Amino acid sequence: MKALVLTAPSQLRLMEVDDPVPGEGEVLLAVGACGICGSDVHGMDGSTGRRIPPIIMGHEAAGTIAALGPGVGGWAEGQRVTFDSTLSCGQCPFCRRGQINLCNRRRVLGVSCAEYRYNGAFAQYVVVPQGILYRLPGELSLERAALVEPLSVAMHAVGRLDAQPDESAVVIGAGTIGLLAIQVLRCRGCRVAAVDVEADRLELARRLGAELAVSPPRAADALRDWSGGAGADLALEAVGADATVHLAIDCLRKGGRLALVGNLVAQAELPLQAVVTRELTLYGSCASAGEYPACLDLMARGQVDVDLLISATAPLADGPQWFARLQRKQSGLLKVILRP
Ligand SMILES: [Zn+2]
Ligand SMILES: [Zn+2]
Repeated sequence: MKALVLTAPSQLRLMEVDDPVPGEGEVLLAVGACGICGSDVHGMDGSTGRRIPPIIMGHEAAGTIAALGPGVGGWAEGQRVTFDSTLSCGQCPFCRRGQINLCNRRRVLGVSCAEYRYNGAFAQYVVVPQGILYRLPGELSLERAALVEPLSVAMHAVGRLDAQPDESAVVIGAGTIGLLAIQVLRCRGCRVAAVDVEADRLELARRLGAELAVSPPRAADALRDWSGGAGADLALEAVGADATVHLAIDCLRKGGRLALVGNLVAQAELPLQAVVTRELTLYGSCASAGEYPACLDLMARGQVDVDLLISATAPLADGPQWFARLQRKQSGLLKVILRP
């Protein structure tokens, strides 16, 4: 099969590799669409230690079942599916509590690190365990379905905040996760404000339901006014840098809640005194844990618009150019979908 292989740091090559063979309880999926994730773009240079070459990346995908491995039940060739990017053991204390994203033996498709290597979906075929498959509703295209994975990440973060109707929420960073979080917060009946440095992303944030969309020089004052001077009930940080963490804490009311999703830098400065004296609650939020059915339902009912987030759909062979554009942070680019 053809696959886009990360052969060395930041070196992507379209090459012919052996077709993967589904083992016990696994299916072979013919990949129809696979989204390029920020973590792929950010990690392909080797900086995160989670894309150690050689690896086929790609964990936001949808396709058609092409073959069943031994012992697979309830699935058939030709079914259109997407899959959870997280593989969990089902046995450890976290899995038993339903926190599969915290599994002690967690693996992620399309990731290679010191502990494991699991080839992903920037290829004609990918092998997926049956336990993480989800049927697609009839009318949902494979391109849209490739955004279920990032939607589940946004949904999980909003769930961590336990967002309630009429609460005010500030989303910092209007990239893919931020723009999806805005929509999930709106579905929950929250009022939403968004912060980003790029004008086109702020425009999208407005179109997707943000009442206020501002860029940093004005953001702190504008958010204070927007929240009536008291600060917002909730904030969701989808960047992961010193300045944005500061702003997230700064914009909250006393007793407010913050979900931390972005982690562009591994270490950020924390305004400790503000967190302590204003009794803020900070939640880390990683991947998702069982949000897929709810996400597919929201998409099928048209409650979440992902079309506005898809900047380009391109053949797998064009992958290296699109990765390069995303690495250069070419403006106006959000989600790029490759079609093997
Ligand atoms: Zn991702
Ligand atoms: Zn586990």
